[in-house]
Amino acid sequence: MKPRTPKKEQRADVTSVETSTQRAKSERRAPERTCVGCGLHDDASAMLRLVVADDEIAFDLAGGAFGRGAHVHARPDCLAKAPRGVARSFKRDPKVGPRELAERLVAACDRRMTGLLLAARRTGAVVWGADATLDAIRAGAPLAIVAVDAASVAQTAEVRGAVAEGRAIAWKTKDELGSVLGQPAVAVCAIRHEGIAGELRGLRAAAVAAVDAMTREGGECSRRPEAR
Ligand SMILES: [Zn+2]
Repeated sequence: MKPRTPKKEQRADVTSVETSTQRAKSERRAPERTCVGCGLHDDASAMLRLVVADDEIAFDLAGGAFGRGAHVHARPDCLAKAPRGVARSFKRDPKVGPRELAERLVAACDRRMTGLLLAARRTGAVVWGADATLDAIRAGAPLAIVAVDAASVAQTAEVRGAVAEGRAIAWKTKDELGSVLGQPAVAVCAIRHEGIAGELRGLRAAAVAAVDAMTREGGECSRRPEAR
């Protein structure tokens, strides 16, 4: 019995060393940052980057913008608290309220998404037109973009299935999608590139969270008289 015990212990030690090494490696790959909204640590990749330069706060969604950086979760609560968090960590008045910051995020998401869709067009990673798009969805395309005024195509079994699977987003009007893709009007298109699709999904979710943050802000204002 006695000789076995040290062996077991040694084995246990080796395992724990390997585990902590693997943990250290994965931490290096995904740097942690503090959210200026909720104050919790999280992977930087799970948050949006803000830059503060010349007393202006901007969202750096493409990455690489100059200025002092901060991170925030794309969640309504975190976005609403972000201006105060920036004021605390940068020790200066951000000169922007939660509503204006949320508006900036919606605009920044729209610009970045337009850039990604143009990139998808240049590289042949997007197909448009109802037939080509529905074929692509059936073939497993990672994302469908449905124009907000495209009621009939939104009712097709393919698009409804893609919505249920989280493979579809509603964004822009038919005319707006068309102008990005160099067409008169586009009701629906499909992205065939996983990376672009993933980034578009994340940006759309961030914009929705920003709109939610704005609605809550308005809700709080209207509740104030009752609280008194
Ligand atoms: Zn947060």
